[in-house]
Amino acid sequence: MTVLKCNVLVLGAGPGGYVAAIRAGQLGLDTVIVDGQAPGGTCLNVGCIPSKALIHAGDEFEKAVHFTKKNALGISVKSPKLDLSQTIGWKDGIVERLNSGVSGLLKKNKVKLITGWGKMIDGKTCEVTAGEETITIHAKSIILATGSVPVEIPSLPFGDTIISSTGALSLDSVPDRLVVIGGGYIGLELGTAYAKMGAKVTVVEATDRILPQYDADLTKPVADSLKALGITVMLNTKAKQAAADGKALIVDGADGEQTLPADKILVTVGRKAKTEGWGLSDLDLTMKGTVVAIDDKCQTSMTDVFAIGDLTGEPMLAHRAMAQGEMVAEIIAGHNRTFDKRAIPAVCFTDPEIVDAGLSPKQAEAAGYKTKIGIFPFAANGRAMTMEAETGFVRIVARKDNHLVLGIQAVGKGVSELSAAFSLAIEMGACLEDVAGTIHAHPTQSEGFQEAALKALGHALHI
Ligand code: FAD
Repeated sequence: MTVLKCNVLVLGAGPGGYVAAIRAGQLGLDTVIVDGQAPGGTCLNVGCIPSKALIHAGDEFEKAVHFTKKNALGISVKSPKLDLSQTIGWKDGIVERLNSGVSGLLKKNKVKLITGWGKMIDGKTCEVTAGEETITIHAKSIILATGSVPVEIPSLPFGDTIISSTGALSLDSVPDRLVVIGGGYIGLELGTAYAKMGAKVTVVEATDRILPQYDADLTKPVADSLKALGITVMLNTKAKQAAADGKALIVDGADGEQTLPADKILVTVGRKAKTEGWGLSDLDLTMKGTVVAIDDKCQTSMTDVFAIGDLTGEPMLAHRAMAQGEMVAEIIAGHNRTFDKRAIPAVCFTDPEIVDAGLSPKQAEAAGYKTKIGIFPFAANGRAMTMEAETGFVRIVARKDNHLVLGIQAVGKGVSELSAAFSLAIEMGACLEDVAGTIHAHPTQSEGFQEAALKALGHALHI
């Protein structure tokens, strides 16, 4: 048995864990990071990155198919074909490059990466099974970053036909009929990608709307686009079980029980913190429901034991995990830090995309603010016209009294790239006048942001 001693042990090398380890290494802390799979976590291996690769492939293929028909641009394409196994190979190549990139960054910062599954023995000790070897690691500080796993529906266990998002990212052919259970962002992103690649997609959603965390104004363009893509969305409908041969899903909705034929059933009904299989119960940390409870320093109920990322609950987003990881490393190094971010932007990579940073009009109202709201439609934006992307808008929410920006949302093609400007404005405490008075390059969609601020001030120029 090998025994190691270090300042910092990080359990889990997802975006939370590997960023914490890199920063700890930069700060001169002797750091060990443990993961049972290639570094990068859910995000890099089976989440953010591979899903965006498939979304891109879907977009490109749909474009090619679009150009087989009469179109405004006068482009013509004959019989486009998609070899999904090649697409998956290309996606895997990106993942592998990023896995090596993370390993390289850890090495550069003198962090020891151990590949194996860890189990906490106590608040200072972790036992790692790495192949045949058992390694015991003693650390002064521990960062728990074990992430999350997909939620399984008990009557629909993952298997051959019934797949999670992980399975959907590695199919060898496009299913003729794909039923997606869950109208959240993961289900809609993957469902849309497969619809664009030629699958007949049905989305089954138990509530009365898709993407319930976003307001209806933001989700309407997405709902319209799903319809235009031929995706059937069944709201107020519950998935019950698969047919005996696994080739159909039985659902219960407004019209009673129905059987939906399916070659694959993709279950995307949420993710849960990974709290099992690594000794959490022995640590006996205080929990907040099903996630590890933390304070504004990501400190758990045990001294020198920190928890970050999906393990600590919503919003389960990679950039939140990374920001927490960076902060915790600095706290361990003696810096005075707290997690006091004004906005954690959320992006939904549907078609069109949605960005949500800070407070929506309803949330601002609920928080007791009187507001000024400006909305600028992309239909009045020159760049959007040149990209055939006139659907959607930018919306800015500010305090009525001092014009402080409280929230910014957008829906439209490619708006994910506006998220940085939105977060920066909120984080830096911008007022409407700051956004309106900043020169935004022409022609760009970002002019919609400036115009939304001008609109809230009562003097938009292009509408
Ligand atoms: P994870 O990334 O889950 O990493 C945890 C790591 O811990 C894993 O590598 C795991 O192997 C390891 N681990 C667990 N237990 C042990 C153990 N006992 N021993 C050793 N290692 C262990 N977020 C976004 O911000 N943007 C997106 O576009 C986005 N798209 C997504 C798409 C999909 C399909 C999915 C599934 C998720 C997506 N997410 C997205 C969410 C994002 O992936 C997570 O929020 C993020 O990965 C959380 O980071 P983390 O470090 O907390 O945990």
